[in-house]
Amino acid sequence: MDEERVAYFKELLNSRLEALLQEAEKTVSGMTDEKETFPDPADRASMESDRNFLLRIRDRERKLILKIKDAIERINNGTFGICQVCGEEISENRLKVRPVTTLCIDCKTAQEAEEKAKGS
Ligand SMILES: [Zn+2]
Repeated sequence: MDEERVAYFKELLNSRLEALLQEAEKTVSGMTDEKETFPDPADRASMESDRNFLLRIRDRERKLILKIKDAIERINNGTFGICQVCGEEISENRLKVRPVTTLCIDCKTAQEAEEKAKGS
């Protein structure tokens, strides 16, 4: 993947992460004191790394946040966009729809078929 595309996905992931954290922040501050907001970006950064914060937000959001962080991690170590099963590059269109994916469409289809066969 060339630098331009890497930069594109990095920005895409970062903006999704930011949006999720804002959403989660609303959830958390809605559960506690309603005046408790985090307008300072530095506060938000520390909140983001706060494990308690992650524990307080909804499970689905937390999983997605962790997935996005993993994807950003893969961008940083140069393994982003590579299928973890077969090692082939994941198509760009697929990554645009699901930038957190770790499987190419073939492996994903195979995995889903396998899960169906198990009856789960
Ligand atoms: Zn694959």
